[in-house]
Amino acid sequence: MSQNKIRQEILSLFGSIAKSSGAGPVLISGHIGPDGDSLGSQLGLYRFLHKQGIDCRVINQGMIPEKYLFMPDIEVVIDIDDFKEHQLSFSCAVTMECSNLDRIGKVADLVKANCKVVNIDHHKDNSSFGDINLLDFEASAAGEMVYDLIVSSGDAISAEIATNLYVAILTDTGRFHYSSTTAKCLRIASELVEAGANPELITENIYYTKKPEQLRLAGLLLSGMEYMLDNRLCLMTLTPEIFSATGTNSSDTEGMINYTMQAGVVEVGVLFSEISDKMTKVSFRSRQKIDVGALANRFGGGGHHSASGCVIESGLEEARKLILDQVRQRLNGSV
Ligand code: 5GP
Repeated sequence: MSQNKIRQEILSLFGSIAKSSGAGPVLISGHIGPDGDSLGSQLGLYRFLHKQGIDCRVINQGMIPEKYLFMPDIEVVIDIDDFKEHQLSFSCAVTMECSNLDRIGKVADLVKANCKVVNIDHHKDNSSFGDINLLDFEASAAGEMVYDLIVSSGDAISAEIATNLYVAILTDTGRFHYSSTTAKCLRIASELVEAGANPELITENIYYTKKPEQLRLAGLLLSGMEYMLDNRLCLMTLTPEIFSATGTNSSDTEGMINYTMQAGVVEVGVLFSEISDKMTKVSFRSRQKIDVGALANRFGGGGHHSASGCVIESGLEEARKLILDQVRQRLNGSV
């Protein structure tokens, strides 16, 4: 089915929910550990639905990084651990940027049998788990897809929606840097600025409001950086000790992985985060040659060709061995 038909199907579902007095609210969610695209796309959709009189709950698992607290409507985002309205029966659940339903974590428990799932994503490894699947692998961000959805409804983009969708596109393209930065996303960014998004204010809030603690965390990470395999691989490691030494937590780490790619010789960057002695989060970045999306996929994770992640159910040392072995093979060209 064409993208346009799928968008019409989603809009007609929202239309029928808006008209039916007995319909339960709409649940909007995104992946565990909300980031700029997941929050921007969810909040863009939230305001669009709210304007139509649709009752919505935006529920996520994981702390919102402080740098996103300036976003319009951010106060409506509920942490699943604080959610109290368990009597609610959702008519529809919209997931942003999730390749499978597990990615929304504990929020998935709210998605019951009679709840229609609308899956909006731009990741190639999406498992089409929704009742309606709006998938666009060319889109720079889920925010771009929400823009297309709202525009196809004929509705105008308000300044608040523009700001949130601009955040989504700005952050998911690494400030218009990654190969996902297309002419289309730049055109949409321009439309969003026309509609009221303020690029200077948004960039300032997201990239220039770090706390001293976060810069200390970056300092410790940088001083522990390891270059291996003829400098083609760069590793960084986050441990609970680094968090406690700097007074930070996992919500302070967004973007730190990008330091691994700042040396021009590096082809693969890996950030290990020790969660426990049985669980390690691994984030990957690469230049064009190595497909780290496929690498993360091998360990049950996902993402894009040049930016991905996974969770390995073993301690740091074992996770390091597993990943180093795979990266070595890929850099040697044997995989
Ligand atoms: P980041 O490193 O910026 O958090 O994530 C880069 C990309 O990898 C994003 O598209 C993100 O959704 C994906 N990603 C990161 N961690 C995981 C994971 O544990 N599982 C899956 N499926 N995707 C992940």
